[in-house]
Amino acid sequence: MNTLPNDHAARTARAALALDGLSVGDALGETCFRTHNWEAIQEDPHATTRGPWPFTDDTAMALGIYETLAECGGIDQDRLALRFAARYTAQPWRGYGAGAHRLLEQIGSGTDWRYAAERVFPGGSYGNGSAMRVAPLAGYFAESDYAEVAHQARLSAGVTHAHPEGLAGAVATAVAGAYAWKNRDARGDTATKRGLFDAVLAHTPPSDVRRGIERAATFSFDLSAEPHVRLLDYNFATRPFDVSIEPVVRLLGNGSRISCQDTVPFCLWVAALHLDDYRTAIVQTIRAAGDIDTNCAIVGGIVALATGRAGIPADWLTDREELVV
Ligand SMILES: [Mg+2]
Repeated sequence: MNTLPNDHAARTARAALALDGLSVGDALGETCFRTHNWEAIQEDPHATTRGPWPFTDDTAMALGIYETLAECGGIDQDRLALRFAARYTAQPWRGYGAGAHRLLEQIGSGTDWRYAAERVFPGGSYGNGSAMRVAPLAGYFAESDYAEVAHQARLSAGVTHAHPEGLAGAVATAVAGAYAWKNRDARGDTATKRGLFDAVLAHTPPSDVRRGIERAATFSFDLSAEPHVRLLDYNFATRPFDVSIEPVVRLLGNGSRISCQDTVPFCLWVAALHLDDYRTAIVQTIRAAGDIDTNCAIVGGIVALATGRAGIPADWLTDREELVV
């Protein structure tokens, strides 16, 4: 039995904040596949269909991470695997990917996760599932140093996403979340937004994920490097919907390949640029299409750690299906 840290309650509260940011993004993002929300939000960022918005696998697995941290004070991989499997077994219809179905079914029926993961994903999965669920971990360890955040993120990813890209996606996303919390008081400053990439790159191992984030950092803040993309000439604060996000998607991806490489760089770019504005961050993410629920889960989890719960639109929190922890 692990000894829980003295500030366990404060850590768990931060994890719950990240979980709210993640799950609201997930649930709202998912409505774009079922309703006219995607079109409606292009017109008016305040226009959404009314709830309840069911959450998907992103939130279900994030709940598994949250519960493991609340119970153990850190990632116990055996415990986490059982949490993932229990939530899957109870609600397998939450939109899990094909590989996740097979893996979680096997773990749920008693197969050791190490064996099951290697059998389902030889060499490890690099799907974006390792990043989509990690925000509560970022919250829990947000006041630890980044090396600890990265270590715990690797452990959380390793259960199902042991490929180097899967690990890198979780590490990058978790460090971004911790950075958001540490710098929340200056979240509107351009230097703070730029600094997110520095912190993430300092801790993300060499990988395509890392290369994508390097590109995103250049793209966002050094326009001379990409003269054909002038997106940041626009003032997002006053004219948030006047530009096409398509050039960004073209260069960074939008999760349509469901991989960390194709998902995390774009999500970090949106989260950095809108670190002080949860609604705009989510709406911009929705506009980029692709793996919308997962993209919004990643962006929402990071940005909520900067804005606090007050930054999440109250009606969105109400419209999200209630979380049962
Ligand atoms: Mg999902």
